[in-house]
Amino acid sequence: RERTRPTRLERPGRTADGHRVALLANVGDPEGAAAAAATGAEGIGLFRTEFGFLGRTTPPTIDEQVTAYARVFAAFPGGRVVIRTLDAGADKPLPFVTPRGEPNPALGVRGLRTSWSYPQVLDDQLTAIARAADGATSDVWVMAPMVATADEADAFVALCAEHGLAQAGIMIEVPSAALRAGQLLADARFASVGTNDLTQYAMAADRELADLARLSTPWQPAVLDLVAAACAGGAAAGRPVGVCGEAAADPALAPVLVGLGVSSLSMTARALPDVGAVLATVTLEECRGLARLALDQRTADDARAAVRGALPVLEELG
Ligand code: PEP
Ligand code: MG
Repeated sequence: RERTRPTRLERPGRTADGHRVALLANVGDPEGAAAAAATGAEGIGLFRTEFGFLGRTTPPTIDEQVTAYARVFAAFPGGRVVIRTLDAGADKPLPFVTPRGEPNPALGVRGLRTSWSYPQVLDDQLTAIARAADGATSDVWVMAPMVATADEADAFVALCAEHGLAQAGIMIEVPSAALRAGQLLADARFASVGTNDLTQYAMAADRELADLARLSTPWQPAVLDLVAAACAGGAAAGRPVGVCGEAAADPALAPVLVGLGVSSLSMTARALPDVGAVLATVTLEECRGLARLALDQRTADDARAAVRGALPVLEELG
């Protein structure tokens, strides 16, 4: 039985029994936002703001940022747009904020930590997001990268509130945040699991090193345990937990993540049609069964093989 491969997401994400899973796009610049809208994305689950800061010797002005964020919101009138605050460091060094010569940059001053030394950069960014949101109809959410502790989460949410940004959340990409997600989500309104970094830190395997690829996969049962812990914490705190790492773009892993309790999946826009198509073939209970199946395996390869074996629809997608 041959099916034509979908190239566009035709309807909002749902399982076969109608359980809603928002299917959102990861986007890196305003042009990408327009392209994501053209693929049928329901919104943006991760807008990486680094683009506006890279290749410069000083941060962009508030006005420059307002213009850029307004273009992103304009691509999704009425839709959810999650803006992530600056995630400089390690793989994305910026001369005006990244410390030089850190022995372990991936464990260094990056993400939200940058704001300890440069609070004005974060303050200006939130000012710009709030101003752009003012003139937009999008549902604007803001989140911080690399949050590790409850006090960091609380401080970020409080700062967002000062800027009138009520939908403030956190990324869960450090194992400490996954393990204590319920506490981190006391004030934060939502969490988005960054499986790229969560895998890197859970497996102690640099995500940039191809030689470590067999460790660096979100199919590692330990990574899935951490996603499960994040979802359990979210459920206890009554907060939604999404995934915005590459794991969400894997059509075999997406139903597993839904079964673990994830309520939105954000991915590179071209992966949306396949992920939407697979989700539409499985019920929520079947997703939970796939999640248990994956968690029961001892190795990443076994987890992937077991889930793929239980999802024959994947063969039709190729
Ligand atoms: C992640 O770490 O999974 C993530 C989505 O953030 P980035 O890839 O930008 O580090
Ligand atoms: Mg990350």
